[in-house]
Amino acid sequence: MEFLQPSSWSEALAMKAAHPEAVPIAGGTDVMVEINLDHRRPETVMDLTKIAELTEWASDNGYVRVGAGVTYTRIIDELGDRMPGLAIASRTVGSPQIRNRGTVGGNLGTASPAGDAHPPLLAAGALVELASTSGTRRVPITEFFTGPKRNAARKDELIAAFLIEPAPGPQQFSKVGTRNAMVIAVCSFALALHPEKREVRTGIGSAGPTPLAATEAEKFIAAELDWEGRRPPADTAVKRFGELVAAAAKPIDDVRGTADYRRHALSVLARRGLAWAWQDYRVGWA
Ligand SMILES: Cc1cc2nc3c(=O)[nH]c(=O)nc-3n(C[C@H](O)[C@H](O)[C@H](O)COP(=O)(O)OP(=O)(O)OC[C@H]3O[C@@H](n4cnc5c(N)ncnc54)[C@H](O)[C@@H]3O)c2cc1C
Repeated sequence: MEFLQPSSWSEALAMKAAHPEAVPIAGGTDVMVEINLDHRRPETVMDLTKIAELTEWASDNGYVRVGAGVTYTRIIDELGDRMPGLAIASRTVGSPQIRNRGTVGGNLGTASPAGDAHPPLLAAGALVELASTSGTRRVPITEFFTGPKRNAARKDELIAAFLIEPAPGPQQFSKVGTRNAMVIAVCSFALALHPEKREVRTGIGSAGPTPLAATEAEKFIAAELDWEGRRPPADTAVKRFGELVAAAAKPIDDVRGTADYRRHALSVLARRGLAWAWQDYRVGWA
């Protein structure tokens, strides 16, 4: 196995251009499991951990730009106020060891439908920054996931960062698993309120070939909510929201749960997420 270890971002992009088959490795919490279980035997790996730029975050024209190598622990510790939905999701990832090593960039790289970072990134309307020696492009998160464990990055590209607007309103995330920790989600759901735009955005995980947004549900509930008076939504509207989220999912039966169970659980998570976020909006969101 050839081992590449660039020490700068420009060197990494040049190496990726010269070795498009090279498998990047950040925290290694997905890559090393695949190698150890013999699911993958890459001829070339490229260690990204020496690249300082990937571990930085900063404000960027109204967004927060977070380097692909920022770990879940740092999202929780440093960015919880700006991206609360992603921070809640990050707290549910693996164990402290996995959160200390694992990165959102790696979650995006794997692009598993079950990746816990994906629903909150969808709900926040994130952008994914992809870079190569030919330039940089920012892909809306809704266009990033192209199939099960497939994403929009070309072979010569690396994930540089993701960008999120600092939360304009309350955000929530919850997931169902077969135990409390160290578990791949049976299904998950994220919701973000965008009060200034009168919008609700969602993300569904582990219930389709890719992470999904429940767009019909979003439009329905945004029109039902009393954004000015902040009164609680009618029970019938909340119930309908749950049904529309469940209808947006494309789940399958597998070892973790049945499609029927996933739809049912999603409708519950959607109702709860909405109630929690709306309560936050009522009691204090400026
Ligand atoms: C015990 C255990 C528990 C886990 N629990 C969870 C969980 O609860 N929720 C969850 O979502 N995941 C979980 N995972 C999976 C994993 O931790 C996450 O997917 C994590 O985000 C991967 O990040 P990483 O930095 O370790 O990625 P790596 O393993 O280094 O890389 C993952 C993929 O992304 C690619 N990649 C990495 N960085 C880049 C880059 N900058 N540009 C392009 N491609 C890149 C790699 O080539 C690879 O294909 C768990 C894993 C383990 C081993």
